[in-house]
Amino acid sequence: MSDYKFKGNALTAILLLALAGGIAYITAQDFMSMWAEDKIYPAEGFAEHKLSEWEPAIANTPADTPVYIQEGSEPGGTVLILGGTHPNEPAGFISAIMYLERAKVSKGRLIVIPFGNHSAFTHNSPQDAAPQRFHLGTRTFKFGSRASNPIHQWPDPDIYVHYPSGQKLDGSSRANLNRGYPGTLNEGLTQAASLAILELIKKENVTLAFDLHEASPEYPVVNAMVAHERAMELAATAVMELEFNGIPMRLEPSPVNLRGLSHREWGDSTEETLAILMEAGNPSQGRLRERTDEALVLTGRDKAYARASKLGRLFVPYEEDQPLELRVARHVTAVMTCIEQLEMVLDESKAVTVENIPGYEEIIAEGVAKFLAPEA
Ligand SMILES: [Zn+2]
Repeated sequence: MSDYKFKGNALTAILLLALAGGIAYITAQDFMSMWAEDKIYPAEGFAEHKLSEWEPAIANTPADTPVYIQEGSEPGGTVLILGGTHPNEPAGFISAIMYLERAKVSKGRLIVIPFGNHSAFTHNSPQDAAPQRFHLGTRTFKFGSRASNPIHQWPDPDIYVHYPSGQKLDGSSRANLNRGYPGTLNEGLTQAASLAILELIKKENVTLAFDLHEASPEYPVVNAMVAHERAMELAATAVMELEFNGIPMRLEPSPVNLRGLSHREWGDSTEETLAILMEAGNPSQGRLRERTDEALVLTGRDKAYARASKLGRLFVPYEEDQPLELRVARHVTAVMTCIEQLEMVLDESKAVTVENIPGYEEIIAEGVAKFLAPEA
């Protein structure tokens, strides 16, 4: 081997190393960019808290997340809106944020937790080619993952054993906030977050609690309310009201033997809380989807879904799209319709009055951005 050739090899090696270092630097910056918080602009009257006020063990951990409370001038019940259990289900947390940025509470209290699984907002699902962010007018929001970030809770076991029931689930469910209730401090970060949310529900005597989700259009429980048995009368009344107004909504009883889910454990762990989970139809998290990009998140327009719809395989009415404004309008209106039933189903002392929330047709016609605060 000549000296010349040796020098050539060394130079190639140094260049390749520099290139690898450059790529690693750029991708690390990209990965870490999701650690920054999305900006939100609570309406007047909301006081900001942290979830760790209800469970100090999660203070200074990635499970801690903002909690906002607005109290009306008249006493009444307490409503909790939880968004962001699954940060890849944008209609869930954007609907919670719409309440947070607009609500005027005159009777009772409204509690909003926009980013339920705070850790899961700090990354997005590997190998799903999902966008990191989406834009609504001047606002930017992260499109996170269904699961807590593995840098906060790793590794997933082969089998996740739910505490305290002993029910066995796939290992990835350990990173799913909606399999962690009632929660424990002796498992991972996700179960600690579940525990803290349930502590808030208990200590604040929450009357009516919502967990806002989206599901793929081929999943049977979609465009649906899943209600704990105690919440069934209220949910059924609200569903009739929604159907009367041309908004189709399935009503599903919370399965008694499926442990760890909000609608089951929030109800079972409390004396009075009415627990309801809602699902809108989101093609960007479905298995049939084609290209997964910001446009799909915002419009839900996808040829494979249009075809599946023609074959009768979907559980949502689907012509050619399923836009975010429709999915948010469904959640926002269904939440309001349930709140309006509180006085009749319970009594006047549990009523909650929330104003300044746009109606179903308004959100669909004018878009979501119009009803969020402008970027400051
Ligand atoms: Zn979900």
